[in-house]
Amino acid sequence: MVDISELKTVEHDVLVVGAGGAGLRAAIECSAHGLSTGLLSKSLLGKAHTVMAEGGMAASLGNVDARDNWKVHFRDTMRGGKFLNVWRMAELHAKHAADRVRELEEWGAVFDRTPEGLISQRNFGGHRYPRLAHVGDRTGLELIRTLQDHGIHQGITMHMECTALEVLKDGDRVAGLLAYWRDTGRFQLFKTKAIIFATGGGGKAWRVSSNSWEYTGDGIAMAYDAGAELMDVEFTQFHPTGMRWPPSVRGTLVTEGVRGDGGILLNSEGKRFMFGYIPEKFAAETADSEEEANRWLDGDKKARRPPELLTRDVVARSIKAEVTAGRGSPHGGAFLDIASRKDAAFIKRKLPSMYHQFKELAEVDITKEPMEVGPTLHYFMGGIRVDAESQMTRVPGLFACGECGGGMHGANRLGGNSLSDLIVFGRLSGVGAKAYIDGLKGSPTVNAEQVQGAIRRATECLKRDKGENPYVLHEDLMDIMEECVGIIRNGKELQDGIDRLDKLNERVKNVKADGASQYNPGWHEALSMRSLMIVSEAVAKAALMREESRGAHTREDFEDEREEWVKYNIVVHKDGDGRMVVQKEERPEPPKYLKDIANAKIEDLESGKVGADARED
Ligand SMILES: Cc1cc2nc3c(=O)[nH]c(=O)nc-3n(C[C@H](O)[C@H](O)[C@H](O)COP(=O)(O)OP(=O)(O)OC[C@H]3O[C@@H](n4cnc5c(N)ncnc54)[C@H](O)[C@@H]3O)c2cc1C
Repeated sequence: MVDISELKTVEHDVLVVGAGGAGLRAAIECSAHGLSTGLLSKSLLGKAHTVMAEGGMAASLGNVDARDNWKVHFRDTMRGGKFLNVWRMAELHAKHAADRVRELEEWGAVFDRTPEGLISQRNFGGHRYPRLAHVGDRTGLELIRTLQDHGIHQGITMHMECTALEVLKDGDRVAGLLAYWRDTGRFQLFKTKAIIFATGGGGKAWRVSSNSWEYTGDGIAMAYDAGAELMDVEFTQFHPTGMRWPPSVRGTLVTEGVRGDGGILLNSEGKRFMFGYIPEKFAAETADSEEEANRWLDGDKKARRPPELLTRDVVARSIKAEVTAGRGSPHGGAFLDIASRKDAAFIKRKLPSMYHQFKELAEVDITKEPMEVGPTLHYFMGGIRVDAESQMTRVPGLFACGECGGGMHGANRLGGNSLSDLIVFGRLSGVGAKAYIDGLKGSPTVNAEQVQGAIRRATECLKRDKGENPYVLHEDLMDIMEECVGIIRNGKELQDGIDRLDKLNERVKNVKADGASQYNPGWHEALSMRSLMIVSEAVAKAALMREESRGAHTREDFEDEREEWVKYNIVVHKDGDGRMVVQKEERPEPPKYLKDIANAKIEDLESGKVGADARED
């Protein structure tokens, strides 16, 4: 039995787990409030997922089109999320995003500029106006660089290559966290009054994914184990444009910025097919001819947006439909062409990463030839359920923000709304943690038996003589999720997936990592399987329960949105016997002004006929 007094122990007021955009912004806020703040990352500082973000962050600055404001952004977000977003979160996000972007500029972020010297904004799917503040196609890099520089100078204590394993509680409330160092394999105990999870999504459960190795759903699974609820996890976003070829890079993201800057989608017959897939509810705001779409690209404010910029769920399903109809590209996708639309200098200036990505990874020169693209698992709309104002879960002292949190994006996230989500809700979680700690009575204490239990669970895969190979288990999981919980779903396959996950779970219990705990990637993989299994089971069960097609969740046995389902979120929690409980939960009514704005005709919103009575906070 480990004597916990011998464990390396650090004490912080608040521990932020995850050093992407959300975690960094949360840590900056905590530290600005005078809290001793630890920031934990299982990779190196600067290597989080956020650094991969390309296209930009959405905020209604109105620099490129003065008609933009928070109400239009809110309306776009709710419509994009198919009205399942937590209303207050979408409202806070739309209201705060512009200030958070300006704050980044004050902290030194060097955005692309308009000719007048303002922060430039680009078009993206589902956003009515050019709204994405960007730095070429390397926006995430600039975001993370700026937050890191600012945060480090504020006195945050960084713990790198240290993986969080389990939340420790004193009664109901947070008391600490057990982690381990990835190099030495030694355990690390954190004593803390509050924890903020900012650990991102769980895309590595699927084979074709734009996500990096870090996305194993750890924060979501740890929060679930600690008693928090998950919500909306059936909504996993398949980005329409991942690389299709060669196989080594299948799924790697091709930014929506390509389409925002004029790229078009073609099938194997050379036809621009998106005009055939415009949903009824977006028809009034979408160009119905190439001529109109071209005028829009040239800046004609009377023209409507090209259909390539419809929301991601629509575009991803359309590509899939073309492939199913036998009109796909040679490797099962579609062609994305910007070469015939823009000159080489423009492409290299606006899309430098895409240019190099295709040149180096696929030997394709995107200034001369089209790219081959197809849907790729990209983003978790659902996640840990939090209170909209404070970002606290139902576990006192446990907070969540960024991609691991749920509620903000409803059934489908608009591109660019994640980076702004990170800085808006990262900050709010810091404010929430400060308020919680101020109100805390007495100091929570860590229970030695809990720590010993967590260490035992983490090491049993090293101690058994023989067992299952963690890499093989992960391969099998990816097969299940790809085959049964993919972009187009049905009840039979989902049930089959759940049954297969049950069997896989039995094998995961017997996982064996060879070798000792030092420098042992096999052990890391074995530990990740715990999180991946929880997240996968939750997604599959919630997807089976939601008997409709909405946003990113498409059921071929329940086509189209069903009115009765917009009333419900699906909420997942662990019961006292350790079983996963999946329930429909009725959504509260939103305030009237928000409902009016979300449902307004754009002309009525712009003329002030609707929304004049909105609460300004
Ligand atoms: C290729 C790509 C392009 C994108 N482009 C855009 C875009 O243009 N605009 C946009 O809005 N969104 C974009 N997105 C989505 C967006 O980048 C992510 O949703 C966002 O960066 C998530 O940020 P985060 O802070 O929540 O998590 P991350 O940035 O992923 O950070 C997660 C952190 O948690 C840590 N972590 C995870 N588990 C543990 C653990 N157990 N212990 C310790 N640490 C842990 C990781 O090490 C990491 O530091 C893109 C995504 C991808 C993949």
